[in-house]
Amino acid sequence: MQISTTANPTPVDDARLAEIHANPGFGQHFTDHMLTIEWTPDSGWHDARVTPYGPLTLDPATAVLHYAQETFEGMKAYRHDDGSVWTFRPEQNAARMVRSSQRLAFPELPVDDFVEAVDALVTADQRWVPDNSAAGGGEKSLYLRPFMFASETFLGVRPAQHVTFMVIASPAGAYFKGGIKPVNLWLSETFTRAGRGGMGAAKTGGNYAASLAAQREAIEQGCDQVVFLDDQEFRYIEELGGMNLFFVHRDGRIVTPETGTILEGITRASIIELAGKLGHAVEERKFSIDEWRDGVASGEITEIFACGTAAVVTPVGELRSPASVTPAPASTELTMKIREELVGMQFGRTEDTFGWMH
Ligand code: PMP
Repeated sequence: MQISTTANPTPVDDARLAEIHANPGFGQHFTDHMLTIEWTPDSGWHDARVTPYGPLTLDPATAVLHYAQETFEGMKAYRHDDGSVWTFRPEQNAARMVRSSQRLAFPELPVDDFVEAVDALVTADQRWVPDNSAAGGGEKSLYLRPFMFASETFLGVRPAQHVTFMVIASPAGAYFKGGIKPVNLWLSETFTRAGRGGMGAAKTGGNYAASLAAQREAIEQGCDQVVFLDDQEFRYIEELGGMNLFFVHRDGRIVTPETGTILEGITRASIIELAGKLGHAVEERKFSIDEWRDGVASGEITEIFACGTAAVVTPVGELRSPASVTPAPASTELTMKIREELVGMQFGRTEDTFGWMH
């Protein structure tokens, strides 16, 4: 793929960038460039370009604003202590965007083109990837947001005939500042995020829109994230608003929900492989809310953790619902071991035995 580059004539200066890197937060500051590729039925994917970061001008009738035909990805670039810059399994994000595109009736962006596009933006903006070497094991990174949207100006309800793929980037601080803190969870007994035949397995904005009323409830209850249940029986665990769940059992077995309607995380897939290598049997199956509550009460479940690109791995704290509170299991031993393995690979501090770094 040919990608043209127009350098930003007024990049953020070094002093301002140092300020941003000192306290990046999440999703607030954007790099000097963005990447764009267009698609039309006649020309296919074309006009790939890196240009100065800036606002888009959209016709008010742009289809995505009305019918939410959109998919996105979330991934990170990490700077190792030798200065080199790496991404984690980017071809997995590319493959998931292909699956999301199939569900959203989009054209498919080939995996190699996706990876090349992300590489082009990271290369153009590599000074934006935070340096952790002075921070003694810091976990700052450059968050990457590839996304695709219906850019055709048309109010008819049908798959768009003009599609735009973009990548933008934003420095991200360590998810946990001042030590790992368990996430407290709110069990939604009112809202589901996905249903049979719906879009649950796709990474599309509509799923996040569907999660917000429940997320507002969680915040009101002093919780960090929502646990969503299945839409048929309100009984089987799906996932959190932005993370997948794992349940560690006394005999070392690990169970993670598989329902066909969850977003299958790249972190989740990596943990399934990693835990296997560490000698744990991993079961992907339906897992009920009763199994959770009873397992914690009896001590059969020894650890529960959540995972995703943002936090990597985090222990789960309390599970609250209108009628009850389920405490956190006492241990976080395996949780922290898995976390250290993954974070170590991502930041180049432990050997990448899987060949996951790119
Ligand atoms: N579930 C949902 C709903 C998410 O938004 C995310 C974050 N992308 C995940 C799970 C975890 O996915 P990943 O490990 O690829 O970040």
